Amino acid sequence: MPNMNPKKCPMPEQAPDVRNKNFEEVTLGYTAEMAVEEAQRCLNCKNKPCMTGCPVQVKIPEFIALVAEGKFLEAAAKIKETSALPAVCGRVCPQESQCECHCVRGIKGEPVAIGRLERFVADYARENSTEKAVKPESNGHKVAIVGAGPAGLTCAGDLARLGYEVTVFEALHTAGGVLMYGIPEFRLPKAIVQKEIDTLKDLGVEFILNFVVGRSETIDELFGDGFEAIFVGSGAGLPTFIGVPGENANGVYSANEYLTRINLMKAYKENSDTPIYHAKKVAVVGGGNVAMDAARCAKRMGADEVYIVYRRSEKELPARLEEIHHAKEEGVVFKFLTAPLEVLSDENFNVTGLKCQQMELGEPDASGRRRPIPVEGSEFVIDLDCVIAAIGTSPNPLIRHTTPGLETNRKGCIVADDEHGITSKDGVFAGGDAVTGAATVILAMGAGKRAAAAMDEYIKNKNK
Ligand SMILES: Cc1cc2nc3c(=O)[nH]c(=O)nc-3n(C[C@H](O)[C@H](O)[C@H](O)COP(=O)(O)OP(=O)(O)OC[C@H]3O[C@@H](n4cnc5c(N)ncnc54)[C@H](O)[C@@H]3O)c2cc1C
Repeated sequence: MPNMNPKKCPMPEQAPDVRNKNFEEVTLGYTAEMAVEEAQRCLNCKNKPCMTGCPVQVKIPEFIALVAEGKFLEAAAKIKETSALPAVCGRVCPQESQCECHCVRGIKGEPVAIGRLERFVADYARENSTEKAVKPESNGHKVAIVGAGPAGLTCAGDLARLGYEVTVFEALHTAGGVLMYGIPEFRLPKAIVQKEIDTLKDLGVEFILNFVVGRSETIDELFGDGFEAIFVGSGAGLPTFIGVPGENANGVYSANEYLTRINLMKAYKENSDTPIYHAKKVAVVGGGNVAMDAARCAKRMGADEVYIVYRRSEKELPARLEEIHHAKEEGVVFKFLTAPLEVLSDENFNVTGLKCQQMELGEPDASGRRRPIPVEGSEFVIDLDCVIAAIGTSPNPLIRHTTPGLETNRKGCIVADDEHGITSKDGVFAGGDAVTGAATVILAMGAGKRAAAAMDEYIKNKNK
């Protein structure tokens, strides 16, 4: 008999007033008892609607049934059949718009907490499983992966399991991509990401760090080194600025730089020598996950006032619901229907404020969202000493500028087919944010997975 409680079993978390001063993980995860209780809410629907919402087709009802029986390691193995990074996805996937939004229990109550269960199972396996990945026998073929984000890591793992000699070239000094440099420790502890990377190393994947493809070596030079196929998962790390007067003042950051200093360069640690401005009044312009992360980091770095400045209404906020909820609880103030007009600064060129304008919503635009329209005579100033731009990113142009024959679109994204990641250049495959523009972890993983299968096929055909 299923547990018919209409609500999800709540997950313990740090109190807002405590957690907004530290970088420890906000949510604490289910205990085994909570996980079993929540798993018993699953109706095990025959047609598995939840799975249609998962870009990597995790066998959701099957793993949840195993949790309900207390078979946690078996549940972890079931998820691992299709997902390489469950501890990451359980924490950061937008479940409310993917698996959970298709859950039948969501019709008359809250959906089954699929994300929380996935996280529980992955954490349990990490802490209790003694199994260690083993390098499979080599098939003698060499492949290269550009970029060690979720797309590249997934592709690398799948190819290594098939026996390929896999080398990952990563521009930064740490592998993990946005999982390491963007998403903060309090949402995704870095030890969890590192553990996944260590598993790939056990599988025989070689990581070459501080290697910028396009500078250190071009894609064509990598082919010259004997790599038979190359996957480009270089992400979309180039920030877009707001485009208003005054934004080159001291105290204006891109969210990418701000978050990289804090997360990758550990500016939040007391003994860190990474320079960062400890601002007191901060406005973050934007409404996505990146904006929420920057705002919540600013609070933890000691800001008294932190604002989200967003030009549409709360309904259109693209961030995950959980991040919005947590940001509000932590004291971040949301200024909806507000657009920046100018960054104001003093005679030393230090930020003093942000001149803004009130907006109202008109007809839907090309994105399907209602277009913000300025309200005349509604200008006002927010006093600040820091402005963080979190209005989007695009792919860095280096690879497209140094790879003849690689087609890109007008947004600078590599053109690749969704099914296989095949690009216009023979032997080059691509996926993740480098192809789609800024998207999600699970979509990047899905693309890496499909490309790995296609690369295997490509190399086999070539060597027939
Ligand atoms: C702050 C922030 C918060 C986010 N929060 C969420 C969330 O909660 N949920 C969610 O699903 N998604 C979230 N996202 C989006 C998600 O992280 C990305 O969609 C995902 O990481 C894309 O994966 P990727 O592998 O394509 O690229 P990335 O993760 O960007 O990795 C690309 C890697 O390639 C490397 N690289 C780039 N150029 C080169 C080169 N020339 N040579 C060698 N290496 C190179 C980069 O250094 C990087 O390590 C967030 C993004 C940010 C920035």
